[in-house]
Amino acid sequence: MFQAAADAIRQAQAFIITAGAGMGVDSGLPDFRGTSGFWQAYPPYAKRGLSFAEAANPLHFQRDPSFGWGFYGHRCNLYRSTIPHEGFHILQHWIRRTGAGHFIVTSNVDGQFQKAGFDEANILEVHGSIHHLQCLEPCCDSIWPNDETFDIDTQAMRSRSIPRCPRCGSVSRPNILMFGDWSWLSGRTDCQQARFQGFLDMMQGKRWVVIELGAGTTIPTIRATSERLGQRLDSVRVIRINPREADIRHPHLSLPCNALEGLRHIDRVVGD
Ligand SMILES: [Zn+2]
Repeated sequence: MFQAAADAIRQAQAFIITAGAGMGVDSGLPDFRGTSGFWQAYPPYAKRGLSFAEAANPLHFQRDPSFGWGFYGHRCNLYRSTIPHEGFHILQHWIRRTGAGHFIVTSNVDGQFQKAGFDEANILEVHGSIHHLQCLEPCCDSIWPNDETFDIDTQAMRSRSIPRCPRCGSVSRPNILMFGDWSWLSGRTDCQQARFQGFLDMMQGKRWVVIELGAGTTIPTIRATSERLGQRLDSVRVIRINPREADIRHPHLSLPCNALEGLRHIDRVVGD
C-alpha cells in the first residue's frame, strides 16, 4: 500500500490535501474524540459534565462570555504555541518535488497549515478559523484577524478579558462554525470555497492525488469531500490515512495509521 501511495504521489499533477482532527494530534494537540477524550484534555469541563459539543456552543458567548472565551481563548493560545509536526513539511516536499498544484481542505480551525508555511490562498477552512473573529450578534458581515491576547484562569476555564466588536461594542466570538450555530458568518470560508472551485476547474484533466489525513466519521465533512473528489475521474487516487477508520473502496488506498506515521512511511518510499 505504501508503494502504491508513493507511486501515485510521484506521478501527481495536483494534490488535494484533506485534513481532519487527527492531523493535529501528532503535533501534540488534544484529541476531542469521544467525551472521555475531551474531558481528559479539559478536566474543568468534566467537573461540569459538559461535552465538547456543549462547550463549543455559541450560547456561552451570550450567557457568560468569559466562560465562552475561556475555552476558545485557551485553544487560541494553544494553537499559537504549537509547532506543526514534520508531516506538514513532508507534504511540502512532495509538492516541490513534483511541481504539482495543491490545495488544502481542512475541518481544523487551528491554522496549523498556515503556520507550517502553506499559502493562505491555497487553504479552505470549512469550519472557519480561531484566528479570525466576528461580532456575536452579528451587527455586520465583518470578519477580522484575531489579534487578541488571552489570559485564562484554567481552573474555572474563564478568560480575564472579553474581545469586543469594534463596530457595535458587543461581545465578539471566533469565526468558527460551532454546534447549534445560527450566527456564524461564512463569508471568509465562502471566498476560500470559490478559490478551491477555481483550482479544481484549472486542474481539470490532470492526475489528482487526494491525501486524506486523520478525518473521522463523527463529523464526516472531510471524508465526504475526499470521496466526492475520488468519484470524479478514474485517474483520481484517494489515499486515506486514518488509524481507526481507514476503509475506502478500491482503487483508492487505505493506510491504517496516524497521519505523521503514514506520511513518513510513504516518504521513505518516495525518496528525495
Ligand atoms: Zn458588532
